[in-house]
Amino acid sequence: MIVVMGRGASNGDIERVQRHLTEKGLRGQLNVGVERRVVAVLGQVYPELQDELQLMRGVSEVFRVSKPYKLASREFSAEDTIVTISDNGVKIGGGHFAVFAGPCAVENEEQVLTTARAVKAAGAQVLRGGAYKPRTSPYSFRGMGEDGLKILAEARQETGLPIITEVMSPNDVEMVYRYADVLQVGARNMQNFPLLDEVGKTDKPVMVKRGFAATYEDWLLAAEYVMKEGNHQVILTERGIRTFETYTRNTLDLNAIPVIHKLSHLPVVVDPSHGTGKWYLVTPLAMAGTAVGADGLIVEVHPNPDVAKCDGAQSLTFENFANMMDQVRPIRAVINRKA
Ligand code: PEP
Ligand code: MN
Repeated sequence: MIVVMGRGASNGDIERVQRHLTEKGLRGQLNVGVERRVVAVLGQVYPELQDELQLMRGVSEVFRVSKPYKLASREFSAEDTIVTISDNGVKIGGGHFAVFAGPCAVENEEQVLTTARAVKAAGAQVLRGGAYKPRTSPYSFRGMGEDGLKILAEARQETGLPIITEVMSPNDVEMVYRYADVLQVGARNMQNFPLLDEVGKTDKPVMVKRGFAATYEDWLLAAEYVMKEGNHQVILTERGIRTFETYTRNTLDLNAIPVIHKLSHLPVVVDPSHGTGKWYLVTPLAMAGTAVGADGLIVEVHPNPDVAKCDGAQSLTFENFANMMDQVRPIRAVINRKA
């Protein structure tokens, strides 16, 4: 249920609505938009509630949201959410486009530093790199852990690029939070509910990657888990889903971008690296993702993909990444998507 406050409603009117909800064992979360202020009702609503709220001072309209996600829905915010990634002005959503680039996994200092310099020079806004890697085989390289996070922090220090890195377990959130600017929840953990709860309690942006078999509703409900804890700085990432096709690693679902923009106000990023699994498909799909209105891209880049410890086949060289950026830029320049 969404309570739309009237233009003349006072803060006291909003507080009274929220108090009423609390007394009924529910919760109200406020969204202050440019056009209007709305309170989303969280919890199990009962039939009389709509009338009760409608009669309260300052309330303009009360309507039910039939979708199971509320805070992530377009009904909650007509305007696109702009996520602020760092104090030095990196933003995504609502017309701001950001490119996240870097290795799949942090391997050593030199690899990360050279990559950070190269992706920055080519125009990326955020450095990516995994220190905790979810690997299908337990015998694969599983990441450097905190030592890897320290290397990322060093690269941020030198280049000024904010960093995004994956957190896999609720127990690691506190530690990863100390190093990261954006907390990444991977496809395999999209329904790790205790993890979603925990990142929702932080005040840093969270990227929620789509699970390989997740519907749009499942995915938006994962975002809702984070948001219901009070953290509304959520970025969604389409990274391909599993289909009968095995030639590509996954099938990048480009429908997802306009669909999510219709259903939600959250920014959507395209990951053409995991979406295809092959480096030569990354640039065309990065261009396509940009053309359908993605708010950003996340791309794997490695100094020498042939020897990468993780996802080398889908990683771009520095030269290929710069070339990708050159091809994406003119497409982005002509996109004028309205919320
Ligand atoms: C990654 O970004 O390296 C990663 C593991 O992605 P995903 O969770 O989408 O598989
Ligand atoms: Mn990867």
